[in-house]
Amino acid sequence: MNYELFDHWEKKIFLVDMTREPDYIFSEIAKNWLKKYIKQWKKIWILVNKKWYSGWIFCKKCWFVPKCDKCSVSISYHKVNDEKIWLCHICKTQYNFPTKCEHCWSNEILEFGIGTQQIAEIIQNEFDTKVEILESEKANSTNKIDKILSSNAQVFVWTSLLNTPIKWIDFDLIVFLNADLWLNIPDYSAAKNNFYFLYDTFTNHNCKIFVVQSFNTQNYSIRTACKLSKPLFEQQDLQFRKDWNYPPFTDICIILYKNEIEERLFNKVDKLYKELLYLKEKYQMNDLEIYSTPPLIYKIFGKYRYNIILKWKDLRNFMDIVYTKLKLNQNWFKIDRQAENLI
Ligand SMILES: [Zn+2]
Ligand SMILES: [Zn+2]
Repeated sequence: MNYELFDHWEKKIFLVDMTREPDYIFSEIAKNWLKKYIKQWKKIWILVNKKWYSGWIFCKKCWFVPKCDKCSVSISYHKVNDEKIWLCHICKTQYNFPTKCEHCWSNEILEFGIGTQQIAEIIQNEFDTKVEILESEKANSTNKIDKILSSNAQVFVWTSLLNTPIKWIDFDLIVFLNADLWLNIPDYSAAKNNFYFLYDTFTNHNCKIFVVQSFNTQNYSIRTACKLSKPLFEQQDLQFRKDWNYPPFTDICIILYKNEIEERLFNKVDKLYKELLYLKEKYQMNDLEIYSTPPLIYKIFGKYRYNIILKWKDLRNFMDIVYTKLKLNQNWFKIDRQAENLI
C-alpha cells in the first residue's frame, strides 16, 4: 500500500507518496477511485498545479530551453481552438515554434511537460469519459464556470487558480495531482501557502474523498493539512521559523533593484551592497546578515531584477540609518521593510 489514510469520519483523505510510483501521473489509488466513480456517474475534480503543468520546449542535443526575450521564463504552450500557441505566461508575448535550436542549430526540438489538455486526453482515453477543462482563460466569470460545470461531463480538470468553491455543485472525488504546489518556491512562507491551499480545499468543499499525490509526504504543511489541524500547523510552522531564524524571530528587509541594462543593475547593486557592509561595520552590527541574490524570476517585462536581503533580530534602527545615510531613491529601489516572503 502506497498511501496513508486520514479518516475524518465524513471526509477521507488519501495521501500518496509519488516518489514510489513516479512514472505515471495517476497513482494506483487515484486510478482505482477514478474507475469506480466514473462507473457510478459521480462528479470528479482533478486539480492541476498551474506552474507544473505547462509544457515547454527544449533542444534534444544541447538541452537548450528557449526563453521569453523580455522575461527569464521558458515559453510555454496553450491550446486555443485546437491551435497551439507558444507564449510567455508573464508578458503574454507570442512566439513561433522554433524549427532550429538557436544555440547549436540542431533541428531536434522536443516538447516537454504535461498540460491540462494532455491530462484531459489521458483520462478520456483511459477511462472513456467526457472531460471538461477549466482554465483561467476560459473560465474567467461565474457565468462561464457555471456553463462549463453544467455540461454532462463527469471529470473536470482545473488549475489551482480556480480554487474557489462553487456553491451549487458537490464533487464526490477531488484529486490533487501534485500537492507540493508551493513547496518548490524558495520562501519561508512556502509551507504556510501550501498548507492553506490544501486545508481550504479540504474544508470548503463538500466532498467526501480526496486523493492527495505528493513528492513530499513528510512535509509538515501537507501532513497537518491532511490532519485538518490548523493549530498543529501553526505550532510546527512557528518551530520551523524559530529553528531557521525567520520572522517573527527576526526581521527581514528586502531591497529589490530593477534595470533594463544588466550591467547597470550589477553596478548599482554592488555599490549599495558595499555601502551596506560599510554601515554594518561602522555601527558594529556584527550579527547582521547581508547578502545579494537574484529573485526567483530574474527578468520580467524586459527588466533585470536583483535583491539585497538583510536579516537581523531588529532592523528598524539600522534601516533608519540606511535611509538617511544613503538617501535611497525609491524610484530605483523597492524596499520591503517587513518582507513576508523572499521572492
Ligand atoms: Zn515575457
Ligand atoms: Zn541545441
